[in-house]
Amino acid sequence: MKRIAILGSTGSIGTQALDVIKAHPESFELEVITAHSNAGLLVQQALEFKPNAVVIVREDLYEQVREALQGEDIKVYAGSKALCSVVEMGTVDMVLTAMVGYAGLLPTIRTIKAGKQIALANKETLVVAGQLITDLAKEHGVNIYPVDSEHSAIFQCLAGEFHNPIEKIILTASGGPFRGYKAAELEKVTKAQALKHPNWDMGAKITIDSASLMNKGLEVIEAKWLFGLRNEQIDVVVHPQSIIHSLVQFEDGSIKAQLGLPDMKLPIQYALGYPQRLKSDFPRFSFLDYPQLTFEQPDLETFRNLQLAYEAMAKGGNMPCILNAANEVAVSAFLRDEVSFLGMSDMIESCLAKVAYIANPSYEDYVSTDGEARALAMECKCK
Ligand code: NDP
Ligand code: MG
Repeated sequence: MKRIAILGSTGSIGTQALDVIKAHPESFELEVITAHSNAGLLVQQALEFKPNAVVIVREDLYEQVREALQGEDIKVYAGSKALCSVVEMGTVDMVLTAMVGYAGLLPTIRTIKAGKQIALANKETLVVAGQLITDLAKEHGVNIYPVDSEHSAIFQCLAGEFHNPIEKIILTASGGPFRGYKAAELEKVTKAQALKHPNWDMGAKITIDSASLMNKGLEVIEAKWLFGLRNEQIDVVVHPQSIIHSLVQFEDGSIKAQLGLPDMKLPIQYALGYPQRLKSDFPRFSFLDYPQLTFEQPDLETFRNLQLAYEAMAKGGNMPCILNAANEVAVSAFLRDEVSFLGMSDMIESCLAKVAYIANPSYEDYVSTDGEARALAMECKCK
């Protein structure tokens, strides 16, 4: 029986993780759930699953949650500091980091320091501070199990192969709703178009990242840290059907792939249940429904965000942290119609050029870099 804390239980990954936990009462017990502002759903989940504790990050919503859970044997906390404390509870074995963005960094650090295992969906944390997080995890003997479908695919291909060196990995990308578009067409795309992903139903931020290919850029950096790879060992191929979730090539030239219908419940369940493969009733893939699986090169000239991510990874240090912060500001500005689709790349590029480079950042350096990049990105947006 694994006792689970879900940071971000009200989101796309969080709610699907609850479905997985509900389907396997023999394997999982829900200890903690947290939300940022969706107090209504958090309360509903708490009443259904009866966790030990809930956290609502927005402190102004504390009374609402506390009142709704009065009479229940459930502790209620509020604020971002509480997020960091609940992961340390003695009754928690594994933390699923399913919150979005940079806000995941500190709770992830505290989870590792408390020696709890991690199922990691919050890729931004590894993008911002991959070196720091992986060093810390090693020091505390904490395993980080990938939830992202591509990384889960690679992890599944590596089962039984952990002593065999990897020659390279190939991350697949759907290409998003604007695959094949050129800059002139991208100029005019709307928020509504960008929010319609052809294959996956996800939170707003990652959906925009998928449309701009920034998601693939973040995943390249995520893969580097999860699997200890050199930059040149990570390839990306566009595979519009999203059936092959990613591939590993070994030193003898053999390539292993993991396949399935695009459904995040499988990678979530694999991360939570590892090393066991738990029985599921998820829809099964059939080759006959997909007579053609196709592959193309990503268009780095048009989708500049992927190129910017490669460059940030190559420079290393605090560059990926700058990339992430500028992107978070750019995406929320795009979602408020304050910047155009292509304007997002301009904001990111400008921040990467202007924020001071730090080769070996400390935690404090990441915090100040994130703040500086956000402030600068806001300025770029206002122009
Ligand atoms: P959602 O936007 O659907 O959910 C985000 C969750 O995080 C919600 O529970 C939200 O609470 C909470 N949250 C938001 N901001 C904060 C904050 N500042 N502090 C604490 N909690 C916060 O996101 P997704 O589920 O789509 O994505 C979550 C993570 O998983 C991201 O890092 C994403 O890249 C990654 N991921 C997602 C995939 C997917 O299919 N969705 C696939 C692969 C990776 P509230 O609801 O109250 O706002
Ligand atoms: Mg992914």
